[in-house]
Amino acid sequence: MAACDFASREFDDAVRAAGRRAFEETLAAGLSVFYLDDEGLDRPGGLSHIHYNRTTVPGKTFYIETFGCQMNAHDSEKVVGTLLSEGYAQVATPEDAGLVLYNTCSIRDKAEQKVFNRLQNFKREGMKGKIFGVLGCVAQQEGERIFNRAPHVSLVAGSASYTHLGEMLVQLESGNRRVTGLSFDNAEAFDTPFTRRDNPHRAYLTIIEGCDKSCAYCVVPFTRGPERSRTSESVMAEARGLAEKGYTEVQLLGQNVNSYRDPSPAGWDFATLLGRVAEIPGMRRVRYTTSHPRDFVRGIVDAMDANPAICDHIHLPVQSGSSRVLAAMDRLYTREEYMRRIEWIRNAKRRYSLTTDIIVGFPGETDADFQQTLDLLDEIQYDSLFSFKYSPRPNTAALRMEDRVPDEEKQRRLLILQEKQRAIQIRRNAELIGGIQEVLVEGRNQALGQWIGRTTCNRTLNFSHPGTNGNDLAGEYLSVRVTRAGPNSLVGESAAVV
Ligand code: SAM
Ligand code: SF4
Repeated sequence: MAACDFASREFDDAVRAAGRRAFEETLAAGLSVFYLDDEGLDRPGGLSHIHYNRTTVPGKTFYIETFGCQMNAHDSEKVVGTLLSEGYAQVATPEDAGLVLYNTCSIRDKAEQKVFNRLQNFKREGMKGKIFGVLGCVAQQEGERIFNRAPHVSLVAGSASYTHLGEMLVQLESGNRRVTGLSFDNAEAFDTPFTRRDNPHRAYLTIIEGCDKSCAYCVVPFTRGPERSRTSESVMAEARGLAEKGYTEVQLLGQNVNSYRDPSPAGWDFATLLGRVAEIPGMRRVRYTTSHPRDFVRGIVDAMDANPAICDHIHLPVQSGSSRVLAAMDRLYTREEYMRRIEWIRNAKRRYSLTTDIIVGFPGETDADFQQTLDLLDEIQYDSLFSFKYSPRPNTAALRMEDRVPDEEKQRRLLILQEKQRAIQIRRNAELIGGIQEVLVEGRNQALGQWIGRTTCNRTLNFSHPGTNGNDLAGEYLSVRVTRAGPNSLVGESAAVV
């Protein structure tokens, strides 16, 4: 999915405002993690269930902060698992850590600036004796330039080199203060037995890494390298292992899961893999993200229709409603071809919730092009969307395009788009009032005295459930009657345990 800023604003606020003690209490209670749209529109992302090790060994402690998409969040889970297996202990604040890591996002300039601000803060506070590492997309994009910009950084590594994380740690431990992992050579998928997942009920599972498309605005092919699919055997083994450990929901991840191609002789495509994962005993919910419309074939809808464990939600990023802009973006589909996919979805056996990503202000986008995007919203009636102002990124084709849209105009279009979508969501969510939704309980909002649930169509449903006698409902599936609806979430009361 939206695979966009997966920044934890509550996390930041908790650390700043409440200090470490209150922060740990917040974590113990279950902390909501939010995706941030442009202009900070909150989207519930998931829950953090991190348990920090408080018995720290000096020099063998680490702190990690993650920015960006689910792919980054899951990479961090793998990095954390690898560090734990190497004898490191995770701590809750950078102050307590010997090794401070930032797993970064560079999808838009704003996300990139965040990490440099973090590093700058530490420089000022003079955090001596610590080792700083920049991981992920900014690391890959900026490479060794980071050492000049932030000389207190000792490790710069992109995601394609995490398979060598153990060796990089050895170099750091032996005193090397310029360790890099930036090569895409022989890049394999980062498939590790050490993943330490943050959530005990919902698991991310990488099926494909990198991207072979070349959308004119996008930095991902430069930061995450070429596409590498995992073998179906290793994906299935991991998925079965998750079900055996009690995970009931799995989200298959990749920048473009639709172009999954099993490299083993079995040769499964994405639809086959999706169907097989959903057949694993104990797997109650299977999601996937993110999809490129060009590779979204009818077989995926058929696989979804055939297996009720696959969630009623499809995220299909359109980016623009204008075929002219789509061509300039090199998206490889027209508005009409996109609409054909929507038709397959609308004609399916089940009703699927539909969400998307939209960029406003791409170079050359006229008022008429933008109007076509607004018309598309009217036509499709998305259940939710992530909207972004076009942000020029290094190395990308759009960087050389003329006819830039001024920032004030991008802002104006963004607000119009968000306003329209807000009205659509108010209407669509209101249609659910009075009905029953099954939710997976994700945690409790102590302040509101409500449980937080997620529906199969990926809506947040906060609900009351009297008589729990202090029991934690997290991880349970409950039937909830919807009583109220806002633009971004629903409110309800539990009906009965399913
Ligand atoms: N692979 C997905 C696809 O093909 O749609 C997109 C993944 S990308 C990490 C997530 C979203 O970020 C994109 O769908 C796009 O809307 C947004 N995005 C990417 N590059 C951007 C840029 N330069 N400026 C603004 N938004 C951008
Ligand atoms: Fe970026 Fe396009 Fe690849 Fe998506 S498909 S990650 S937008 S290059």
